[in-house]
Amino acid sequence: MPDERPNILYIMSDDHASHAMSCYGSKINETPNLDRIANDGMRFDNAFCTNSICTPSRAAILTGTYNHINEVTTLDTKMDNTLPTFVKDLQASGYQTGMFGKWHLGTGEKHEPTGFDDWAVLPGQGLYHNPTFVFNNDGNSERRTVKGYVTDIITDMSLDFLKARDADKPFFVMCHHKAPHRHWEPDEKHAHMYLNEDIPEPETLYDTYENRASAAEAAEMRMGVHMIPLDTKTEIPRDLPEMELRKWAYQRYIKDYLRVVASIDDNVGRLLDYLDEEGLTENTIVVYTSDQGFFLGDHGWYDKRFMYEESLRMPYIMRYPKKIKAGTVCDDMILNVDFAPTYLELAGLDIPEHYQGHSFTALLHGETPEDWQTSMYYRYWMHKAHHNVYAHYGIRTMRYKLIYYYADALDQLGAIDETYEPEWELFDLDNDPYELNNIVDDPAHAELVAELKAEMHQMQADLGDTRYHLDV
Ligand code: CA
Repeated sequence: MPDERPNILYIMSDDHASHAMSCYGSKINETPNLDRIANDGMRFDNAFCTNSICTPSRAAILTGTYNHINEVTTLDTKMDNTLPTFVKDLQASGYQTGMFGKWHLGTGEKHEPTGFDDWAVLPGQGLYHNPTFVFNNDGNSERRTVKGYVTDIITDMSLDFLKARDADKPFFVMCHHKAPHRHWEPDEKHAHMYLNEDIPEPETLYDTYENRASAAEAAEMRMGVHMIPLDTKTEIPRDLPEMELRKWAYQRYIKDYLRVVASIDDNVGRLLDYLDEEGLTENTIVVYTSDQGFFLGDHGWYDKRFMYEESLRMPYIMRYPKKIKAGTVCDDMILNVDFAPTYLELAGLDIPEHYQGHSFTALLHGETPEDWQTSMYYRYWMHKAHHNVYAHYGIRTMRYKLIYYYADALDQLGAIDETYEPEWELFDLDNDPYELNNIVDDPAHAELVAELKAEMHQMQADLGDTRYHLDV
């Protein structure tokens, strides 16, 4: 008897913010193939990561747990590949499983992918052009360079896996793009896009970081100022006044970013076409997401890490014609730790007790469970590393966001051991969607701050995380 359970094609890019997808109302580009997924499925407008950085988000997705539990708190903490993951459960239940592209949870015997019938991953960040891959070879991994452009190659590998599949068994494939990660290197096909036009600037490109905790001004990820020539592909005119430099660097940066995204979009189209041609569309769940959001010149920045909206928000679109009504939008909050239980439930499997995320299958039918989450807990651990972003944790509700910059490395691997005075921020997202006005010290909000702190501390206790010792 063939196994009729749904196939799952999980496509995840690296650092693709939802405001660079036309299905999310992008003002700067078109993504017609990603829009196919959203138009034929559901778009989630409040999908958030629990730690806005590559390696930790990937570990949260695979294990259904927060980073203080899976111990992948920073870019330097590789994931122990003996940890239980939802992919291992899918595989054990009869799914054919494949993983191709960016892994970024470590390589070598203790960290390379496990739970996959076949895999090929980029070591570390990988290269855009002629990348080297680590290939699974029956337990003996080997490195080989593959000629071509990384987004095409990862798609080819995913397609090859699908073509060689056993048609009587369902498949689960992770197609994990390196793009559009820094340094945003386009392929030839897309290199000439946007040549003679200016891309619209974000509202907060010229942010001066007033009315914020000092963490915002301290961050070293400003357009031009903290870039290197690899980012702009030309010498940086560092003698320009800062705001002029931001204006100049934004255009250099965003055009390459969008060119790299255009290649992802084309390649997603190839995968969707294959499903159509093979008659697989009806019984295949297609997900497109990214490991976190990204600043697209917002607040004058590139990169992520902050709990601010552009970095916290993940794009998440999902198509499943059997269960999801076409063209639907979900405003309920979902988190990266919720993916694992959701996919297990969709595959008809039990959700392990130790999972901290919650299955959102009910949301796919347009039903919001009465006790569905309306707040979330976030923690960025990698104090100061790379872009001088201070370690922080916080709570986001449907309207407010409270952030505590405890600004301490706490011996986390890769964090920089230099401690600062802790600071708080509170934003009212209804009245201040760009988070420009920290109102934590406004006496009118004292009661609200106390309530949010109490709720956050309760969440920390419930999730097994530890409060910073000065957070009283
Ligand atoms: Ca990333």
